[in-house]
Amino acid sequence: MNNHYDVIVIGSGPGGEGAAMKAAKEGKHVAMTEQYPLVGGNCTHRTTIPSKTLRQNIQQMIDTGNYQDGTLPMLLESAESVIGQQSAMRRGFYERNRIDVAHGRAAFLDLHTIEVRNPDSLPRQYRADAFVIAVGARPYHPPDVDFSHPLIVDSDTVLSLQTNPRSITIYGAGVIGCEYASIFRGLRLKVNLINTRDRLLAFLDDEIIDALSYHLRENGVLIRHNEEYDKVVADAAGVTVYLKSNKTIRSDVLLWAQGRTGNTDRMGLEELGLELDSRRNIVVNECYQSAQPHIYAVGDVVGYPSLASAAYDQGRFAATHLVFGTCEDHLVKYIPTGIYTIPEISSVGLTERELTANRVPYEVGHSLFRNLARAQIAGRTTGMLKLLFHRETLEILGVHCFGSQASEIIHIGQAILAQKGEANSLMYFINTTFNYPTMAEAYRVAALNGLNRIAAFRSVGEP
Ligand SMILES: Cc1cc2nc3c(=O)[nH]c(=O)nc-3n(C[C@H](O)[C@H](O)[C@H](O)COP(=O)(O)OP(=O)(O)OC[C@H]3O[C@@H](n4cnc5c(N)ncnc54)[C@H](O)[C@@H]3O)c2cc1C
Repeated sequence: MNNHYDVIVIGSGPGGEGAAMKAAKEGKHVAMTEQYPLVGGNCTHRTTIPSKTLRQNIQQMIDTGNYQDGTLPMLLESAESVIGQQSAMRRGFYERNRIDVAHGRAAFLDLHTIEVRNPDSLPRQYRADAFVIAVGARPYHPPDVDFSHPLIVDSDTVLSLQTNPRSITIYGAGVIGCEYASIFRGLRLKVNLINTRDRLLAFLDDEIIDALSYHLRENGVLIRHNEEYDKVVADAAGVTVYLKSNKTIRSDVLLWAQGRTGNTDRMGLEELGLELDSRRNIVVNECYQSAQPHIYAVGDVVGYPSLASAAYDQGRFAATHLVFGTCEDHLVKYIPTGIYTIPEISSVGLTERELTANRVPYEVGHSLFRNLARAQIAGRTTGMLKLLFHRETLEILGVHCFGSQASEIIHIGQAILAQKGEANSLMYFINTTFNYPTMAEAYRVAALNGLNRIAAFRSVGEP
């Protein structure tokens, strides 16, 4: 490897990869530094890919009723194959684009020099004109919980559980907590889901929140809202969570899923004058520049939206700005949410709560999966698509879906919602011929349902 580059990217998750590829394609001499021996980031090795593979395998097991002993370690092992394919493919991207990869932990020595430390070799120094920091985040560990105990795990270490617990307590009912509640309940464990708030995933539409709560409970997840831990005590046989409300919850394993922290420790960032927020994320401007304009930061280490999907785009935008001094592209206004609970949830745009608060005259159109031929054929009749649209202009304002394939189905609605002017209209779904039988047909059904509501109102005589 050389020692001087135009751009050095730190961290090979989707954010770092997006930045490295864009800079290389624009002719820059680029190096990637990654502290782990394989590229792909936490996304590939510890978070998105393993959790989604695990979920898919469990869904298959639920469908076939084929439960076997030793299931969790076995299912986790099968995720290794997908992780291996993803990582190998990504390594190929670096090779093809002539991006040097240095494995080791990077820290800044000065504004243009980093040192990369790797237990297998001597520290090496590299210099660059510009940097993109894409080091991601890790699970937050409160200091009074003993994460060295083998029965207390977080969303990273849960993937190396070698036992087959019969019960689990999940502390934190955000997206990760709810996804793992579905996963473990799918494995037929007793699941306690402890929520520090008064409802699940408050950013979703209320009807979807109700549906999620109903289905988690219906499947046997015990949800406790408005609870906070007082202390956590673990022994050789299990973990007890003492709640401030005087309840105690005992289970074989505790999964802590409450918050994430930027991986910015011991990187020499404060010494360079970079600003960090209370979660140790790097503060950046709209072009992803830190307080030092030649040092960019993207992905989870800059906080919201903390999604693999967005991280890749942020990386590309940062590299565009780095190369051209300007970047016209920004993340879309409405980033879709894909939540891989069982059933799956996805939404884009505004919720009924937001529209009501903003006094927007809207109407709702529903399509229940149980009435769709494709859902009946596939045996996936749990679910619903809900369209929110402007009563007068028929503009689509929000699309909310739960049920099988929700995170795929949502993109049809997203494509129309993103259109400008009259092209964003409920009428698209009514005037379009959809394949039959498909889940996409839900859009036509929901649109007609919504339009009929307006028509019924108008026939009575709109004021
Ligand atoms: C359980 C779970 C499930 C998720 N599921 C989804 C999902 O379904 N869809 C979705 O869009 N998002 C999902 N996410 C979020 C997604 O994982 C992150 O948004 C994404 O990984 C962020 O990418 P990134 O580029 O910021 O970095 P990361 O993927 O976090 O990678 C950062 C890399 O930087 C490396 N690194 C760190 N410090 C250094 C250093 N000093 N020197 C060198 N290298 C370093 C790390 O080793 C790591 O490889 C999930 C997250 C969790 C926790």
